Amino acid sequence: MKHCLGSHVSVAGGLHLGVQRALEAGCDCLQIFTKNANAWAAKPLDPAAITAWREALQASGLKHPIAHTSYLINLGTPDETLFRKSIDALVIEWERAEALGLEGLVLHPGAYTTSDEESGVRRVVEGLIEAFSRTQPKLCRVLLENTAGQGTTLGRQLDQLGEMLDRARAAEPKCGAALGVCLDTCHAFAAGYPIHTDDGFRDFCQRIRDELPADSVRALHLNDSKKPLGSRVDRHEHIGRGELGLETFRRLLAHPQLGCLPGYLETEKGIDPESGRDWDQINLEALRSLDQSVV
Ligand SMILES: [Zn+2]
Repeated sequence: MKHCLGSHVSVAGGLHLGVQRALEAGCDCLQIFTKNANAWAAKPLDPAAITAWREALQASGLKHPIAHTSYLINLGTPDETLFRKSIDALVIEWERAEALGLEGLVLHPGAYTTSDEESGVRRVVEGLIEAFSRTQPKLCRVLLENTAGQGTTLGRQLDQLGEMLDRARAAEPKCGAALGVCLDTCHAFAAGYPIHTDDGFRDFCQRIRDELPADSVRALHLNDSKKPLGSRVDRHEHIGRGELGLETFRRLLAHPQLGCLPGYLETEKGIDPESGRDWDQINLEALRSLDQSVV
């Protein structure tokens, strides 16, 4: 099976430079931020920057371009001001993703803070529906990401993500069709799914089938975990060097459905002091070596 493996890359200096960085790292696919992830405001995208991005992407042969939304967005909040601000920010990000021809926009569902899970889920669905109706996307799906479940964060359990998608679809079928899921291996493990064992992985796959709408999983975040099973702490580790281990990624890539999805690294950048090589290159090689050993 030929897998599509890539990474989250920086677009410092210009969106088109993200394409160059992805190629240098040996990516087949890429994830970017279309704006500063730690700020609400963003200057509108310059048409020349959009063209430069589109041309670079087309020439590169890279597939499945996606973006990750700002960490500030919280659709699950009971705070009306933050809720309105989050919807506005999601609309802007969704419009940018459309303009750039991205097929996915990864979103953490949010945190219910001082309310409760049910109210949080209701808010997220309401926010998604409003953002959808204001954006009217043609291409880009918002992909809800499973979370490690730190604090009052929503989306730790697959059935909760499934519920959000089902409710959105029931209320507004077109919105439902513009949503999906991005599964993060580190988050699943930290949330308590023992995907590092044969049985645990099989059970996780069964839950994907039972608890998420068919074909809703569109992307994978491939990260090992620094923290143990069920820790609810989100700390990414290089592939094969954490609690998950290489075997977990071998199983995942060998899975007939999940193994066909584009997979993006979100591991630490930089140079490995031991080998003097780029970490993205090392992690992609680690994944691809598993690929070849699958019979
Ligand atoms: Zn992730």
